Amino acid sequence: MIHDFTYLKPGTLQEALSMLADHKDECKIICGGQSLLVVMRQGMVVTDYLIDIKGLDELSYITYDEKEGLKIGATTTHRTIEKSELIKQKCPILVDVEKKVASIQIRNWGSIAGNLAHGDAQAGDLAPSLIALSTKVKLASSKGSRIMPLEEFYTGFFENAMSNEELMVEVQVPPVRPRTATAYTKFNLIGNDQGIVGVASTVTVDQSGACQEARIVLGNAGVIPIRAKNAEQVLRGKKLGDKLLEEAGEAAAGEAEPVSDIHASEEYRRHLIRVLTKRMVKRAWEQAARLT
Ligand SMILES: Cc1cc2nc3c(=O)[nH]c(=O)nc-3n(C[C@H](O)[C@H](O)[C@H](O)COP(=O)(O)OP(=O)(O)OC[C@H]3O[C@@H](n4cnc5c(N)ncnc54)[C@H](O)[C@@H]3O)c2cc1C
Repeated sequence: MIHDFTYLKPGTLQEALSMLADHKDECKIICGGQSLLVVMRQGMVVTDYLIDIKGLDELSYITYDEKEGLKIGATTTHRTIEKSELIKQKCPILVDVEKKVASIQIRNWGSIAGNLAHGDAQAGDLAPSLIALSTKVKLASSKGSRIMPLEEFYTGFFENAMSNEELMVEVQVPPVRPRTATAYTKFNLIGNDQGIVGVASTVTVDQSGACQEARIVLGNAGVIPIRAKNAEQVLRGKKLGDKLLEEAGEAAAGEAEPVSDIHASEEYRRHLIRVLTKRMVKRAWEQAARLT
């Protein structure tokens, strides 16, 4: 049963931020409620006030400029991102990732910031991919705003770096560097369900075809998305080959911190990370090499 709460509907971002400042210790932001209502029904979240930002059109936008890249407003839905011609042109991997998120019904209603702020390591497809894309998030409060790498946003199990006076207002994806590509996949038993694990990889190749830079991010391999930095290091300066992919997969499996649950054992998750890392690095690398 959901505990009684007072529903607040701000008309502007400024109004939302001042409501947040007024009720900071006893309120939650809601932006569709697809995840929040589940945890409220389970009694895991009890709040006196809900501040509904769903209708704030000023936070629903997608823009691009050559210097700063993509800027996606917090309330932008998954489906809007998936269908955006601008995103298809400037960051096509994001369209592929969005297609893997739940069902069309969920994507029609769920927001990018709701997905990232909820921080469910199991159901989160966006965080690993966006971290692989070096994404930053803009957080705002009535006192001002700050920008932080998404990689530093997650601090623990369903916990993040936002204070109780802040909300996420924007997701910033930098321009894709030359000869760079990103790949993402998740392994799941039921199509479009949460992933048993997910792996995102970004590879930049130099003129000789060697790996200049790499990012590998593991989803549902721990309580927060994990950068497999040892695996990334294995790749730098090297040429693509089966032995190298084996080494990278092995390193990523070693960096993961998976648990056993009803969906999969820890060993199975590690095995999947090993396999999917090899595949995603190879896919990103080959795509990047074709761009030279
Ligand atoms: C059945 C089901 C299947 C799903 N499968 C997947 C999947 O396969 N892959 C995947 O990635 N996701 C999946 N999701 C998550 C879904 O895609 C939504 O992105 C997610 O539920 C967020 O929903 P929402 O926008 O309604 O946010 P809400 O439920 O309204 O909010 C979620 C959390 O974020 C906070 N919040 C919301 N907006 C902000 C903001 N701007 N600033 C700060 N905090 C904020 C809220 O306080 C709350 O804690 C699934 C969800 C469901 C219900």
